[in-house]
Amino acid sequence: MEKKIAIFPGSFDPFTLGHEDIARRGAEIFDELVVSIGINSAKSRYVPVEKMKDIISKSLIDLPNVKVETYQELTSSFAKKIGAKYILRGLRNTTDFEYENTIAQVNNYLNDELETVYLITEPKLAFISSSIVREIHKFGGDVSSFLSY
Ligand code: ADP
Repeated sequence: MEKKIAIFPGSFDPFTLGHEDIARRGAEIFDELVVSIGINSAKSRYVPVEKMKDIISKSLIDLPNVKVETYQELTSSFAKKIGAKYILRGLRNTTDFEYENTIAQVNNYLNDELETVYLITEPKLAFISSSIVREIHKFGGDVSSFLSY
């Protein structure tokens, strides 16, 4: 049977405990999971992409079916290129839902073999976002309870 490959795309700037939870749960569902850091040249990052790739790889090193890649193209094109038929995303709240609903339809239009799979966030991690972590870190606050590294 064909291997079920999924990508878990995001900015991961930075990768939080919420992202890690989705990645770990996704790794149990799919044969192979590719955590895919999207590079948007128009947006500057808080943590450089190569540094984040290294951090994510180390955080998930115990999972043999997880890989970390970077990409600089449409998510649907990248998925096709690496043979992934599934996109994994996390859902925290209705704001995420509104956003994801649109994106999933566009991705499906661009590549109709793609199926997006959502995991509902663990309630205790639902309030964590990369932007909040950046904000706290920028002003010297303690972000250790939002990250595993
Ligand atoms: P993007 O820039 O594509 O929104 P993010 O890096 O912010 O990328 O998020 C990537 C994915 O992880 C999204 O599906 C997002 O909903 C999900 N996510 C973000 N934070 C959390 C969290 N605390 N718990 C679960 N999922 C999350």
